[in-house]
Order: sequence, then structure tokens, then C-alpha cells
Amino acid sequence: MSRKLGAIQPIYRSGIHIKDAVSVDHPGEITQSYIDLFVKLGGQVIRDDIKRLSKRNEKVILHGRHQYIADEVVIAAGPWSNDLLKTISSPLPMCFERGYHKHFAYPQGEILTRPIYDVDYAFVLSPMTQGYRLTSGSELNDKDAEINTVQLEKAIKSVQNSAVLGEPTNNSLWKGNRPTLPDSLPAIGPHPKCKHVWLAFGHQHVGFSTGPTTGRLIAELMLDQVPFIAITPFLPKRFF
Ligand SMILES: Cc1cc2nc3c(=O)[nH]c(=O)nc-3n(C[C@H](O)[C@H](O)[C@H](O)COP(=O)(O)OP(=O)(O)OC[C@H]3O[C@@H](n4cnc5c(N)ncnc54)[C@H](O)[C@@H]3O)c2cc1C
Repeated sequence: MSRKLGAIQPIYRSGIHIKDAVSVDHPGEITQSYIDLFVKLGGQVIRDDIKRLSKRNEKVILHGRHQYIADEVVIAAGPWSNDLLKTISSPLPMCFERGYHKHFAYPQGEILTRPIYDVDYAFVLSPMTQGYRLTSGSELNDKDAEINTVQLEKAIKSVQNSAVLGEPTNNSLWKGNRPTLPDSLPAIGPHPKCKHVWLAFGHQHVGFSTGPTTGRLIAELMLDQVPFIAITPFLPKRFF
């Protein structure tokens, strides 16, 4: 299997080749390696579905299958963050930019070396470990609303002109909710009214890339260090 830009059909009059962009072909593996590093450095991972938070004296209690008593809690639950936050405070004004993707087997012959973004037809086609991943544009809707594949179906039709795709792989439809705050910036820092509660969410389209920076900023703030970038635009107090 050869990977060449020749895998794009010659239908485009012009394009921009962004040479210093990077992409990954298996986000889940990268996330797993962050978890492995965390554990290696002494962290402990406990999986539970936290239903609500409460305060007792100077502690924060997490109520899931078990109860956990914490000195400090960081709400970093992506699009589900408000579900937790509203059990202890007012929620943030969040909307959801939902996105869909579907995987296709690689065709015989040449395949793409990098993701391509077709601006006119609003799709991204990325070479991934699992084959091609075709991603649609944003759908503004409630995170739990019914799935609506209109955009994805249009993308599937349009992409046929741009590249050769193999068969869709079984059950490959995926829907995610990009959590977006009104100024498109995440909320990073202490809750101004709820001591010992920290917020780290609202990363909309870019949280896979910027999440590690958020982790560093939260750690610096918690340790009373000067954050390595200006933190004011991100502080949650802008919403309270
Ligand atoms: C279609 C699509 C394409 C995207 N493409 C890109 C891209 O190209 N580049 C990029 O940088 N970003 C991209 N993003 C955005 C990125 O995925 C998010 O910004 C990022 O996942 C946010 O990370 P997070 O850790 O804040 O939240 P999440 O990744 O959403 O993680 C939240 C975690 O909290 C857990 N959780 C939630 N509620 C609870 C609870 N009550 N108890 C316990 N655990 C809970 C969830 O299970 C989940 O594991 C894309 C998103 C979508 C939907």
C-alpha cells in the first residue's frame, strides 16, 4: 500500500499545503499513553460514574457507585461537565457542536499521506489506523438529541469525487459533542464561588491538541505557580 498525495483525484484547482500541521492516526492510543504515564508517575486511576458533587466542611464529596472525599476536585468532563457542575453551582452557558465520523476500508493502491479538508463540501478525510475517517461539519444541537446524519451523508456523497474509498467498516458511525462556551475559549481555573472546585472544560474543536496545556495550567494554578501563559482570558470567573 503506497501513501501519496496522488490519492487525491485531480478535481481541485488549488489547495493550501500546511507543512507544519501534525495529525495522529489513533487518538485513543495517545490518550492511553497519557494515562500510562500518569500511573507510572504515581497516579491512580479509578473508573466511576459520578452522579453529583457536594460540599462537606472544607471537602468536596463525589457521589458515584462509591463516595470519594477530596481536598480539591477538577471538573474536566468535556460535554458532560455541566451535568456535574449544576449539582453544586450554576452551570456555564455551553452549546454543543456535534460532529460525526465514519470509517472506510482503504482502497487498493495509493492512499492519502495526511488529512485533507475540503472547504466547499465541509468534510475532512483522514488516514487512520482503522482506515479512512470521514468527518462531517458541526451540528448545533443538544448533546443528547437524536442522531442526524444529513451532513455525514452529504459528505459521503461529495468525498467520492475527491478520493477512492473502500467499503464502510461495520458499525463505524460515531457522534461526538464538542463543548463550546460563548467566547470559544475553555474555562480553566478555580470556581470563583465554590472553593476547592476547579474547572477545565469547554475545549470545543481543539481539546485533543490543547488538553495537555490545560492540564499544565491547572497544575500550575493549584500549586500557586505563575502560569506559563496569560490565564485571565480562560478564568471561569468571566461567567459568574
Ligand atoms: C467530531 C469531533 C472532531 C474533533 N476533532 C478534533 C481535532 O481534530 N483536534 C482536536 O484537538 N480536538 C478535536 N475535537 C475536540 C476534542 O475531542 C475535545 O475538545 C476533547 O475531547 C476535550 O477533552 P476533554 O478531556 O475536555 O473531554 P472529553 O474528551 O470529552 O473527556 C471527558 C471524560 O469525562 C468522562 N465523564 C463525563 N462525565 C462523567 C461523570 N459524571 N463521571 C465520570 N466521568 C465522566 C467521559 O467519560 C470522558 O472520558 C473533536 C471533537 C469532535 C466531537
